[in-house]
Amino acid sequence: MATCYACPATPSIKIAKTSDPACVPCFLNWFEEDVHATITATKIFSRGEKVAIGVSGGKDSTVLAHTLAILNQRYDYGLELFLVCIDEGIAGYRDHSIREVHKNQSDLQLPLKILSYKDLYGWTMDEIVARIGPKNNCTFCGVFRRQALDRGAEKCGAFKVATGHNADDVAETVLMNLLRGDIARLQRSSTQVSGSEGGITRVKPFRYSYQKDVVFYAHFKKLNYFSVECSYSPNAYRGLVRNHLKAIERVSPRVIMEIVRSGEAVVVPQSEAPLIRRKCIQCNYTSSQELCQACRLLSGLNIGESTHDIVKSTKKAPVSTDSSAATSNGCGSGGGGDGCGCNNNSVDF
Ligand code: SF4
Repeated sequence: MATCYACPATPSIKIAKTSDPACVPCFLNWFEEDVHATITATKIFSRGEKVAIGVSGGKDSTVLAHTLAILNQRYDYGLELFLVCIDEGIAGYRDHSIREVHKNQSDLQLPLKILSYKDLYGWTMDEIVARIGPKNNCTFCGVFRRQALDRGAEKCGAFKVATGHNADDVAETVLMNLLRGDIARLQRSSTQVSGSEGGITRVKPFRYSYQKDVVFYAHFKKLNYFSVECSYSPNAYRGLVRNHLKAIERVSPRVIMEIVRSGEAVVVPQSEAPLIRRKCIQCNYTSSQELCQACRLLSGLNIGESTHDIVKSTKKAPVSTDSSAATSNGCGSGGGGDGCGCNNNSVDF
């Protein structure tokens, strides 16, 4: 009879990343050690720094917060951890998931900062959807959330945001950018640390962790998380890519890591990925143009422009280097790992 890969116990699961059989205690330990290996190999943290963890109450960010808190103690990383949660103002969705964030905050005893779109931008997502209708919601939401997360980190005195994007999210994003022929964005989404030009950097400690293993971990650890999908999520293109990837993964589980590594191997000639950074003249956020994308979207909303014109105005730059970059089909979040929890459509992180 098969035994756990690490002890004589009867296995309860097969680890998605390695295909090894494991008992629950050995799996939980393997998962944490695997994340620790990613953190040390990619050198994404420095001793003594403040790190804001983007949390939504969804499974990825919940597991991230718990794992980082455990590893920070076990290996004495010397990090000061904060939880930052963004309330988009989506009734029946975010209000419920924020309850899970509060439970996790109480378990982990980490400082929590919650910022709302209403306070930051004057609009809730429910109000935006009522104004613009059912299309392009994630374009607004993703641009606003990315900037809101940075602002939340700033309020904590942190210059680094850790997000729960996992290997499946990264592989989907690599494939989507490849299919769109957007090689510059493909490279940006494949780096270990992104967004450094704007002052706040982003890291993904789960970039080599498989989504199934994240789900197993949340389940066996009995963590509190919210798993309902946002009602505004259209998700058509990412959904297609995800289903395709899942079909290949059934035949070859290694495909996820192989795509992630392929993305990391892409080198873009400098001229194709210009990085022009300045400050938005309205809100002082890092931008590639006079007005950052959030301010352009807001000004269109506030003056009652048509949705088509508002969204078009955010896509004028040939290659956007705005750290709040909207994508051609959705928000800048890329899966549910950025404190969104919505698994929506995007091609950038
Ligand atoms: Fe926002 Fe995500 Fe909902 Fe889109 S699916 S509106 S990005 S919370």
